[in-house]
Amino acid sequence: MSDLSASEIYQSILTTIDAVEPRIAEATRAELADQRSSLKLIASENYASLAVLLTMGTWFSDKYAEGTVGHRFYAGCQNVDTVESVAAEHARELFGAEYAYVQPHSGIDANLTAFWAILANKVETPALAEFGAKNVNELIETDWETLRHRFGDQRLLGMSLDAGGHLTHGFRPNISGKMFHQNSYGTDPETQLLDYDALAAQAREFKPLIIVAGYSAYPRRVNFAKVREIADEVGATLMVDMAHFAGLVAGKVFTGDEDPVPHADVVTTTTHKSLRGPRGGLVLATKEFASDVDRGCPMVLGGPLAHVMAAKAVALAEARQQSFRDYAQRVADNAKSLAEGFLSRGADLITGGTDNHLVLLDVSKYGITGRQAESALLDAGVVTNRNSVPQDPNGAWYTSGVRLGTPALTSRGFGAAEFDRVAELIVEVLRNTQPTATSQGTPSKAKYTLTAGVAERAKSASSELLAAHPLYPGLEL
Ligand SMILES: *Cc1c(COP(=O)(O)O)cnc(C)c1O
Repeated sequence: MSDLSASEIYQSILTTIDAVEPRIAEATRAELADQRSSLKLIASENYASLAVLLTMGTWFSDKYAEGTVGHRFYAGCQNVDTVESVAAEHARELFGAEYAYVQPHSGIDANLTAFWAILANKVETPALAEFGAKNVNELIETDWETLRHRFGDQRLLGMSLDAGGHLTHGFRPNISGKMFHQNSYGTDPETQLLDYDALAAQAREFKPLIIVAGYSAYPRRVNFAKVREIADEVGATLMVDMAHFAGLVAGKVFTGDEDPVPHADVVTTTTHKSLRGPRGGLVLATKEFASDVDRGCPMVLGGPLAHVMAAKAVALAEARQQSFRDYAQRVADNAKSLAEGFLSRGADLITGGTDNHLVLLDVSKYGITGRQAESALLDAGVVTNRNSVPQDPNGAWYTSGVRLGTPALTSRGFGAAEFDRVAELIVEVLRNTQPTATSQGTPSKAKYTLTAGVAERAKSASSELLAAHPLYPGLEL
């Protein structure tokens, strides 16, 4: 698409919105300006292509299509069938999966779909055979209470939140921590690395139905072949949530033991993080789980978003190109540069570095909390998010860490030198952030002051970097 046509298309779109609700047109323009002018280091965010963004804005949004390809609860779904089939085909071929389900609206929805599919496969189906019932309706008449209790009596083992796991991996306040007996594994207190022997011992003791591997804030690769061995030994189903690192799997940076797809029974992901697609999720599964995963809608999902599935198909087609593999490799290389940039300036990184797309910076040595670091960096035009570190003394709200990822700025064309510069300006801001004293004289965990001039200097340094790597070049509103 030529730049001229992109500008014309978006000007027409905004004029159309403007005529109905000008505040939304204005917010849309402002969002582009904000995204263009900030150093986006949020590890879960990215910039999708204009092809992906435009695909979401069509009349596919108007169509109901509950069910699956060829088996819809609504008439007239032939074009949605095309969209869903193409998206699933790209997902299967890109990841080498036996089966792909592209309906989940988000990563959390993909995980719920997976949990219910595993429960259906491992609890409901055996119970039907045991009770001699052909289907659940027959069981409702006879042994429903037994089955219901069995459903509620299953065990899930996932990575703990403060070691980098996700809320949906069994965190107590999340539904995953309520629907299962839950247990979580952490990292080694010394190395901060995943300890496979400890995980194996815990799995032997706990005997979970499901082991969930995958993370949101762990800066290292996982050996999924080893986790598979552990799952096999204890008879657990292995589910991998690759929401954060799907782009590195798609781009063949993670291969062999580090590629979850050949090792897991079920793999879930978002499509909008390192994979650089529309906001959404998907589930990959072995043939054994396919028909159970297919029950996602209407079991736990609302009707499919056909316009988003269309955009997933476009993004997955992009991810199958060589240019995406090059991008994924740069994401990992850039994370290394960012980490080295921090370490060479004396900063502390959880696990001492990275070999994926993110680093977790421990800000304690600057005498501030993650919350103060996050806010001070925002004042300087750097967008990050605060994050707990293992055994965080400041808890999950204030935290002691900041998580930084390279996918978004790599999409803008940042390379090793730019990421080193980013590390330099972040360290400069953190060194110049001081906690304000509370009325009791203790340091505040939220309020802070920044040495005069530091935010301004960081902003002008980042503006220079951003100007050299424009977002959606040629798109003018
Ligand atoms: C981001 C994330 C999710 C949730 O994705 P949403 O699209 O926000 O629902 C689930 N699991 C992991 C590991 C994640 O990082």
